[in-house]
Amino acid sequence: SLQDRLQSAFKTLRGKGKLSEADIDEVAREIRVALLDADVAVPVVRAFIGNVKERARGAEVSQALNPAQQVIKIVNEELVSILGGETRRLQFAKNPPTVIMLAGLQGAGKTTLAGKLGRWLKAQGNSPMLVAADLQRPNAVNQLQVVGGQAGVTVFAPEPGNGVGNPVQVARDAIAEAKRTLHDVVIVDTAGRLGIDAELMKQASDIRDAVNPDEVLFVIDAMIGQDAVTTAEAFAEGVDFTGVVLSKLDGDARGGAALSIRSITGRPIMFASTGEKLDDFDVFHPDRMASRILDMGDVLTLIEQAEKAFDADQAQAAAEKVAGGTFTLEDFLQQMEALAKMGSMTKLLGMMPGMGQFKDQLANFDERDMDKIKAIIRSMTPAERENPKIIDGSRRARISKGSGTQVSDVNQLVTRFFEASKMMQKMAKGGGMPGMPGMGP
Ligand code: GDP
Ligand code: MG
Repeated sequence: SLQDRLQSAFKTLRGKGKLSEADIDEVAREIRVALLDADVAVPVVRAFIGNVKERARGAEVSQALNPAQQVIKIVNEELVSILGGETRRLQFAKNPPTVIMLAGLQGAGKTTLAGKLGRWLKAQGNSPMLVAADLQRPNAVNQLQVVGGQAGVTVFAPEPGNGVGNPVQVARDAIAEAKRTLHDVVIVDTAGRLGIDAELMKQASDIRDAVNPDEVLFVIDAMIGQDAVTTAEAFAEGVDFTGVVLSKLDGDARGGAALSIRSITGRPIMFASTGEKLDDFDVFHPDRMASRILDMGDVLTLIEQAEKAFDADQAQAAAEKVAGGTFTLEDFLQQMEALAKMGSMTKLLGMMPGMGQFKDQLANFDERDMDKIKAIIRSMTPAERENPKIIDGSRRARISKGSGTQVSDVNQLVTRFFEASKMMQKMAKGGGMPGMPGMGP
C-alpha cells in the first residue's frame, strides 16, 4: 500500500545524521514510485516531488528532529497542501434558498450524497429539500425518495405520469416550491452517464444555468484511479463545479484520486463519502486525510511534541549561559521540565530514531521525579540557586528537611546539575550545540 511504501522510503533515512543530496534523491525516488503506483496523476507527482526535494535541501539542521523525521514532516505538510490546505466550507446564499447542484458520472454516488448532505444539513439546523432532476433512469426518482425518507428530508419530484419530464423545469419548479415552503437549502440531484458525453454535459449545464447554484459539487468515485483526471477535467469544462465530493473513499486504500483531484481541477475537496450508510459522510479535512495517507499519526504527534518540548531558542540560551558561567539551578529546572514533557512520551520513543540513547534515562524520569526536583529547588535560597557551589553539608541537610526529601536526593540533584553544566560547557566550547541540554552523557 501507499502507506507501507512511504514508510519504507523513510526507513532509508534511519540513523542518518544529516541529509545528503544522495539521501534526498533516494527518498524522493521512492516516494515518487509509491505515489505513481497509487494512481496519483503524473504531473501532480512531479510537482509534489519537486517541492519535497527543494524543502529537504533547504531544511536546516534541526536539534529536535532527525533527518527521517524532518522528511516525514515535510512530506506530511506537502500532502496537506496538495489536498487543499484548509477545509473549505459550504457557501450559503445571502437570500435563501441556497442551491447546491450535484454532478458526476452515473454510479458516482450523487443520489446517496443528496441524502447524506440533506441529513447533515438538517442536523445543523437547516431545512433542506432534495430535488429529483435525474429523469434519465427509470428508478432514479424513486431512489431519491427512498434516500430522502431515510434522511428525514423533503423530496421534490415531478408528478408521476407526465411522460418524460424536463429536468430543467423540475429544478426551476423546485426552487419556487422551496421559497414557498421556506426550505433554505435545495439540493439538486442530476443524471449521470457511464461515460462522459456531450448530451449529459449539456443537460447539467442547462440545469446549472436555470437554477444559478451557489455550489456545484462534482461527485467522483475515489476508486476510479487514473480515469479521475479525464473525468474531472471533462466536468470542470462542461459544468464548472465549485467543489469536489470524494465518494467511496472507504474503498480507496491508495488515496490516488484524493491526491490528484485538487491540483488537477483547482477546486477544493469539500466532503468525503465513506460508505453506503447515511452517516458515512463528513466534511473533508486535508490534514486528517494526509495523516491517513501517511498512516503515521503517532510519529507525527511525536514530531510535534518533540519540537514543542525541545525549544531551540531555550537550548541556545542555556548553552550561552553555561559558556558564560551563569547557568543556574533555575535554568536547570527549566531544562528538566522540557525533558519531563518528553519523558511522558517514553512509550513512543522506540519509534523515534536517535532517541534510543536517552531511552533508559527518560524511562526512569516520571512526573514524581519532577515534583521532587521542584520541591528541592524551591527549598533553596536564591543565592543557592544562583550558585550551587555554596551548597555544603549543612545546607543540604536543611534543604532535604525543607523539601521532605532524603539528603541523598539533594546530593543527586546537585551532582546532576554539575554534570550537566560540565557537559554543556564542553559542547559550547567545542562550538557545537549540545544534543540534549540538561542530560548527563
Ligand atoms: P449516482 O448514480 O451518482 O446517483 O450514484 P448512487 O448514489 O446511486 O450510488 C451508486 C452506488 O454506490 C450505490 O450502490 C451506493 O450505495 C454506492 N455508494 C455511494 N456512495 C458510497 C460510498 O461512499 N461508499 C460506498 N462503499 N458505496 C457508496
Ligand atoms: Mg443517482
